[in-house]
Amino acid sequence: MAKPLPYGRHRINKQDIDAAIDVLKSDWLTQGPKIPEFEAALCDYCGTDFASAMNSATSALHVSCLALGVSSGDLVWTSPISFVASANCARLCGADVDFVDVDPETGNICLKALTQKLKIAASLGRVPKVLIVVHLAGISAAMREIRELVRPYGIKIIEDASHGLGGLYENEKIGSCRFSEITVFSFHPVKPITCCEGGVAMTNCEKLKSLLDQFRTHGVVRNLISSENASVKPWHYEQTALGLNYRLSDLHAALGISQLSFLDNYRLLKDVLANKYKEKLCHFNIGLPKEPKGCVSAHHLFVVRLKGSVGPEVRDELILEMSNLGVTCSMHYMPIYRHPYYRQFNYEVTDYPGAEQYYREAFSLPLYPDLSDENLDYIVSSLKTSLKQMRLFG
Ligand SMILES: *Cc1c(COP(=O)(O)O)cnc(C)c1O
Repeated sequence: MAKPLPYGRHRINKQDIDAAIDVLKSDWLTQGPKIPEFEAALCDYCGTDFASAMNSATSALHVSCLALGVSSGDLVWTSPISFVASANCARLCGADVDFVDVDPETGNICLKALTQKLKIAASLGRVPKVLIVVHLAGISAAMREIRELVRPYGIKIIEDASHGLGGLYENEKIGSCRFSEITVFSFHPVKPITCCEGGVAMTNCEKLKSLLDQFRTHGVVRNLISSENASVKPWHYEQTALGLNYRLSDLHAALGISQLSFLDNYRLLKDVLANKYKEKLCHFNIGLPKEPKGCVSAHHLFVVRLKGSVGPEVRDELILEMSNLGVTCSMHYMPIYRHPYYRQFNYEVTDYPGAEQYYREAFSLPLYPDLSDENLDYIVSSLKTSLKQMRLFG
């Protein structure tokens, strides 16, 4: 193989390119009509009332924490098996972060671990203000149960659905915010659709929508509070909170609108590929992803597990063997508490047996709309070769 096969890849077509060019020729490069148009299309798709588009999911997570009032001294819980942004957003608000262990089969938050952790937290009088739930690989966590568990404590929920656009939970779109205050999507090129860089915070709460919008634009508002004769001063604006410039541009939004029209199609293409993987790998000693009842995966990643792996180095060796054969596998994710930055907070690895098992076993096989059948066959045969090489086949 000439070029190694990547684990994920965007697809850009002529409609996407034309949409971007149209904006470049228009009057508005940013803060124009494409932003509300993209937001409306996302609301329409997910069945949500409001959306606030931003320049990344990282920005959207940060602003979501700000909108929910997270600040210094607060506590935020999230999943250790996620991209670091799921935890960093709380740190950026000055809050402390703690992790809820995951189910080693799905990498999603474990209900038993959450139940126990809530009990202990309540007895210590230190329950989190916000729980950030991650839908790993595009398969939703058990939102209804999670909402029920945290409700008595008044804990707010942000769904980090960076992997989840296009997926279903209880046969409703991920992003509907039925069981959360806010849901965040990412439009980075490896995600289900792309704006190059971009993200969004979805909500059904009008007050949160206005806070999200305010924090993404410097904390500035245009519906004036203190100005005496606002109507005769159209140039007037006021800063009422400390915000940032996290806006998405019209160029990126136009790309997003175009990409959204292909989302279901891309998901279906990946569904066919995922089923082929499952068919061909069922005789391997490999754990395969499962969609719980009522859930449909967005298929952001195809995470499989090397059953019985005794340490992360065994899985790493497998990834290296695959790379030597021209197949890029990846690891999503090393538990966040293992990162050098997070080690200063002295998390106990023994508190997270589920995350540690997941970390020993999991790796991602390539999955993207343009992955050909021949390449998929090659990946499967490379996996067989690698496992045999390591005496792990059978
Ligand atoms: C990609 C990702 C993010 C960050 O998304 P950006 O748009 O790149 O900022 C956050 N959380 C998770 C789970 C992700 O996979």
